[in-house]
Amino acid sequence: MNAHHHPDTVAVHAGRADLTELGVHAPPIDLSSTAPLPGLLSGGDSYETLATGGVPFAGGSTVYQRLWNPTVARFEDALAELEGADAAVAFASGMAAFTAAILAHTTSVGRPHVVAVRPLYGGSDHLLASGLLGTQTTFCTADEVAAVLRPETGLVVVETPANPTLDLVDISLVVAAAGAVPVLVDNTFATPVLQNPLDHGAAMSLHSATKYLGGHGDVVGGVIACEDETAAALRRVRAITGALLHPLSAYLLHRGLPTLPVRVRAQQASAARIAAWLSTHPGVAEVFYPGTTGSPLIGTQMRGGGAMIAARLHGGFAAAAQVTEATRLFTHAVSLGGVDSLIQHPAALTHRPVATDAKPGDDIVRLSIGLEHVDDLIADLATALDAAHTTATTAAATALA
Ligand SMILES: *Cc1c(COP(=O)(O)O)cnc(C)c1O
Repeated sequence: MNAHHHPDTVAVHAGRADLTELGVHAPPIDLSSTAPLPGLLSGGDSYETLATGGVPFAGGSTVYQRLWNPTVARFEDALAELEGADAAVAFASGMAAFTAAILAHTTSVGRPHVVAVRPLYGGSDHLLASGLLGTQTTFCTADEVAAVLRPETGLVVVETPANPTLDLVDISLVVAAAGAVPVLVDNTFATPVLQNPLDHGAAMSLHSATKYLGGHGDVVGGVIACEDETAAALRRVRAITGALLHPLSAYLLHRGLPTLPVRVRAQQASAARIAAWLSTHPGVAEVFYPGTTGSPLIGTQMRGGGAMIAARLHGGFAAAAQVTEATRLFTHAVSLGGVDSLIQHPAALTHRPVATDAKPGDDIVRLSIGLEHVDDLIADLATALDAAHTTATTAAATALA
């Protein structure tokens, strides 16, 4: 791609530069589980190169799908270009990507301590708190990072906007506080359309590709954009642990990228209207939407508020449960970032494994805004919220009587 092209153009053309030469218009899919070996010595060298995190060399072989796949590499090249990174490494899920990032930077290099800024996605929090990978984690707030670093800290983890309350964290402040320790930013909610963490000094930008990158609710995958050296370390872990993204999923993720900027901007425009409307509803106690908090990071670190909203409801858990079960256009389901709108209850679902003192309130619901017409989405929420509000006020009146 031409360095002067707008990101919208990059999203359409990235990872496709060789298609005309190949005589095709859509990227080919390579499903080979194994690959022919041109000779025993070059085959062995290829194996050695790929299993230690390298990339295929001319005259060599890709050897075996777990080590390397060209359809996956196409998606990686495209994503790297969108993130302004040297490289990207794609995994079977967001959690597989996070696992590889932890292993590559902590226990495998003798620095088993992790600093993690809360809140994080419940699964990420769970993986770190469990100690399953042999790490020890200190959870903290963004301004505590410098104070909790240790000589054996291998990784600092932050998510912005954070799941589920959409807290924004200043990436460059965390990077400065972390010093020589690499910072991983979970960029799932912002996407490369709205935020490029590497521009602010982060070492890695991680995506659950399952969400906005795929965008159609039919792929599970993860990807990390980073420098070449980090990519090699991540590919090594991926090859050894067997965490490669499936090539059919890679094809679908690559197919989703051209529409990513258009989808994110349209979903964001609806989210801004819905957040404003929610803040006027008598059943809503508080709206969490980065676009309306007046954060100085909007317009600098992040190019907009995104399309995720959380809301705290009057009437507590009962109201939240009633609303999640009453919407019709908003499907009651976990996940996010697709073309259709979703609603879910973080404390009971996505953040269920999080320690009690760090768990989101049970009066909070989370909305992922899709591409339906915004008036229809507001009408759907109005019906559900009005009913829950009536139930809550009736219960309060009965208790008083
Ligand atoms: C979903 C999610 C993940 C985990 O990704 P999977 O693809 O489900 O493994 C990580 N971080 C965030 C912010 C997420 O929303």
